[in-house]
Amino acid sequence: HSKECGRGTFSYFDDRMNAKAAERLVLHNRLRQALGRDELSLAYQPQVNLRSGRIFGAEALLRWTPRDGEPVSPARFIPVAEESGLILPIGEWVIQEAFREARRWRDAGLQLQLGINVSGLQIYRSDLVATLAAVQRDTGVPPGMIEIELTESTLMQDVHAAREVLDALKRAGYGLAIDDFGTGYSSLAYLKRFPLNKLKIDRSFVTDVCTNAEDRAIACAIIQIARSLNRRVIAEGVETAEQAALLRRHGCHEGQGYLFGRPMAAQELRERLGTPATNAQPGHEAGL
Ligand code: C2E
Ligand code: MG
Ligand code: MG
Ligand code: MG
Repeated sequence: HSKECGRGTFSYFDDRMNAKAAERLVLHNRLRQALGRDELSLAYQPQVNLRSGRIFGAEALLRWTPRDGEPVSPARFIPVAEESGLILPIGEWVIQEAFREARRWRDAGLQLQLGINVSGLQIYRSDLVATLAAVQRDTGVPPGMIEIELTESTLMQDVHAAREVLDALKRAGYGLAIDDFGTGYSSLAYLKRFPLNKLKIDRSFVTDVCTNAEDRAIACAIIQIARSLNRRVIAEGVETAEQAALLRRHGCHEGQGYLFGRPMAAQELRERLGTPATNAQPGHEAGL
């Protein structure tokens, strides 16, 4: 095998690995300055109750637009931030910024929940509980307004340590959601031990939920698990009314995706929700 592939193949791989490493290094150096240069921002994507069609919350999604360049996708820079540890200061900034926005919602009388993504490093290598407590104190945002999102793989890295942090967050009053559910390797037994409020069905099962019987089976199984364990369940990446209708029919409580709204600037979401009075009017919501 190795003979047939020849040396050329190896150097090809070496070159590709070097190119990747070099790209990461460049990205890392630029990302290190991003915070100080005010290049980071949060976009907010609406989350909708599938029965009423009402927007009940939003997820904060990190955006990086370097001054001298194009926006860089989170799929590219978040892994770099995680490997380098930069996700710790960046993650802290995300928490501060998100709480400040939640405070604005509260001051405007908007009853919305806000989802914040948190990395493994923040759980295992920093005092997330203390960070949240300090920011909560400064902003006065009720913890019940905030939902912390952790991926399945993050939780499984160190089940014992994760459980302690989650228990503390739960005691403090935060909502807890498991993100990208179905893509990691969690044992179902852990679901009952972690104090989770919500499962987020990964977009990869939602995209073809109407046309692919296996994706539909998986999505429905997750909905059933969530419902039998008395947890809420939200589908990610809902792009069509058909997907929303099918998921709703199968008992999915909530949806998030381009059908209801793309991730948008904070101000845009506030304008879209308007005053509390218009927010409560049926028919104001898009998509359903
Ligand atoms: P996620 O938390 O699962 O977020 C959902 C991703 O799906 C977002 O990608 C969102 O823009 C995208 N999305 C939402 N609806 C649709 C849809 O209808 N169709 C399609 N095709 N995509 C949709 P985004 O913003 O690129 O973020 C990617 C991931 O980066 C997030 O996945 C999350 O894991 C991570 N991330 C984002 N912000 C943060 C953050 O502040 N901290 C940490 N640690 N991770 C973050
Ligand atoms: Mg998320
Ligand atoms: Mg997700
Ligand atoms: Mg996802």
